[in-house]
Amino acid sequence: EQLLDIDSIRKDFPILHREINGKPLVYFDNAATSQTPRQVIDCIVDYYENKNANIHRGVHSLSQIATDAYESAREKVRAHFNAKHGHEIIMTSGTTHSINLVANGYASILKPEDEILVSAMEHHSNIVPWQMLCQKTGSKLKVIPMSEKGELVMEAYKDLLNEHTKLVFVNHVSNALGTINPIKEIIDLAHQVNAKVLIDGAQSAPHLKADVQALDVDYYTVSAHKICGPTGVGMLYGKEELLNMLPPYQGGGEMIDEVTFEETTYAGLPHKFEAGTPNISGGIAFGAALDYMNAIGFDTIAAYEMQLLIYATEEIEKIDGVRIYGTTPEHKTAVLSFNIEGLHPYDIGTLLDKMGIAVRTGHHCAQPIMDFYKIPGTVRASFSFYNSKAEIDSFITALKKAKSMLL
Ligand code: PMP
Repeated sequence: EQLLDIDSIRKDFPILHREINGKPLVYFDNAATSQTPRQVIDCIVDYYENKNANIHRGVHSLSQIATDAYESAREKVRAHFNAKHGHEIIMTSGTTHSINLVANGYASILKPEDEILVSAMEHHSNIVPWQMLCQKTGSKLKVIPMSEKGELVMEAYKDLLNEHTKLVFVNHVSNALGTINPIKEIIDLAHQVNAKVLIDGAQSAPHLKADVQALDVDYYTVSAHKICGPTGVGMLYGKEELLNMLPPYQGGGEMIDEVTFEETTYAGLPHKFEAGTPNISGGIAFGAALDYMNAIGFDTIAAYEMQLLIYATEEIEKIDGVRIYGTTPEHKTAVLSFNIEGLHPYDIGTLLDKMGIAVRTGHHCAQPIMDFYKIPGTVRASFSFYNSKAEIDSFITALKKAKSMLL
């Protein structure tokens, strides 16, 4: 069944038509960053050609035009994730910034007896800020373990929760394995002990639509560059009362109410967390990227990517010595994380690159997962809705060739 008009979608992405090392580019590193459609590129060009001015401060018309465009992007983000209020959407430079903003805020709230839980399959950006927080507060960091299948062990999670648990951090989807975690259950269980939950949505946002109110999640983070938007922009969603409670992250212009040398009072949400001139064109393009993906539809995207993943899984399993890490296609997004017996992932990646195929190799900023499997890293092929079955065929052919050259 033809779910998408893939030829017409691919026409929207100029970069997909270039060559790498003399071969047509096959871009299978979508989990690291997605490619950008013409509509989003045009939006950035239009901003600098027609709307460029600083926002929220000018009395002049151009500043108002830029402010309106930026705030309408915030409204698109709010609507997409179904936040109750626009001011619950804090525009950040991406997931890393969003997580650090929250971690910094809790430095003045947590006590030494408090515990925080982080899953065994987190990206370093959802581990390191919490370790830094624990160093400041003396609180304890505990780990929700994962199984050999690459899924969280929910029984162990339940055992870890207690009256000292204050915060829980889990990614919605693992970047290294693609696992879709049962976040609704994780959130509901945490709330039973009054713990707050931050879900790292960096890898879920390209594949599925999260409804922050239905999830009842406390904080949710996203990077625009994984969902067809530009780099260096993203969002933090937080429940209004929690964002009001958190102290500001950075001080500066835009985030104040009144400043004297004796005392400063802070602006309300969202400005309290948006010090300085933001990535204005990036924020507007973030909105355009959501428009682009919503026009295709997330259900269609998910169904199409599942077809690609199932096909790629079947084909790669025909190659002797391949081991796939992680769960079965129904429980993950379009990620194949694998190794070939006797070969180093880096060597495979390097040879694939010579054949025009871009994959990621290494620990994928999730070293604890590699330690769990006792491997230095994996080869990760991650697919997007603009990839085709023909590209998977090229990848499988190239992989067989690389194997025969290396073994
Ligand atoms: N969390 C996850 C699960 C990710 O995949 C990434 C990006 N690889 C991040 C966090 C960090 O996102 P960014 O680099 O855009 O801040």
